[in-house]
Amino acid sequence: MYDLDAIRTAHPIVETVCDAGVELRRSGRRFAGRCPFHADGAPSLMVYPETGSYFCFGCNTGGDVIDFVGRLRRTGFKETVEYLSQHGLELDHLPTNVTRLPSRTVFPALTAEELATVDAAATYYAGMLNRYTDVRAYLADRGVGSDLARRLRLGYGGRGLAAHLRSRGLPLDPARRIGLLDGEREPFTGRVVIPDLDAGGHARWLTGRTLGSGSPRYLNLRAPAPLLGLRRAQLRGDRAVIVTEGPFDWLTGCGWELSAVALLGTHASRDALAALHGFRRVYLALDADGPGRHAARALASDLGERATIVDLPRGIHDLNELGQRRDGRTAFLRSLHASHARMEETWSSTTHSNPRARAA
Ligand SMILES: [Zn+2]
Repeated sequence: MYDLDAIRTAHPIVETVCDAGVELRRSGRRFAGRCPFHADGAPSLMVYPETGSYFCFGCNTGGDVIDFVGRLRRTGFKETVEYLSQHGLELDHLPTNVTRLPSRTVFPALTAEELATVDAAATYYAGMLNRYTDVRAYLADRGVGSDLARRLRLGYGGRGLAAHLRSRGLPLDPARRIGLLDGEREPFTGRVVIPDLDAGGHARWLTGRTLGSGSPRYLNLRAPAPLLGLRRAQLRGDRAVIVTEGPFDWLTGCGWELSAVALLGTHASRDALAALHGFRRVYLALDADGPGRHAARALASDLGERATIVDLPRGIHDLNELGQRRDGRTAFLRSLHASHARMEETWSSTTHSNPRARAA
């Protein structure tokens, strides 16, 4: 017997449809997107979070989340319910004949020349950060001191990247291919730059956060996004790692001298998941909102016993917000230990109440 209401609660319709690669836009109390069940030119798929249902005006299909997932995976009711009670929606398991939009653009891996350009740009941006007191003050406000900024090679997009690359004998074409330059324009101007470093401390990728309310909030390099900070976490040799959502949440973890990585969103790539399986303990400290909780549950179901979902202290939305509190680190570790203890209890109670699990 399955608790259908519990399954519906664990798989909110909007998040599930998003996970299936459908881009949804809010329109009043509903969301609209392109239907994955027919070749949909216009957004005909409507999703209604209040009733937990969807309906496509193109192919006249509709139902609840169980119906949606069953249709997507081409499984019957019973099999779908069994699947949903055990899993998040795993895109890799979908049949290939399902039409769907990719949920994020996939870029080719960088060439050696492009990697050299990324590293040279990171050096340039780091030098710029030294010149801008107000940007260093902004970072300090968000809990990132200058010592940490130096160690992680944080930077600031000041103007003059093209001249810098030329002075280093680097051509500009690779910089244009990966989005560091747009013609003569410098898209990272005015942004705090956060690089991903390899084991040798070279920058291999970077993102730039706007200082104000500019859009997009994070501008990424046109290159495959990493699990931010993975090399640093692996080099530390800790058997545990904290998984965060955004670059600033990750910076907070680093500032607390903890082993941390950032998903750069709520989606973990296959490579990112494989890397997380390499840690003995994985603490999922994602944002305290719908997408964050949904992603944490999906990750936890993939990672099994090594995963612990960390409930942040009440009223705190993300790790960086906690990092701005004087007692943030202590409060976080308290939450982490409490969540861990709850998890251990859950595991041991399932073992005791389920004779099959005990025998296994
Ligand atoms: Zn349809």
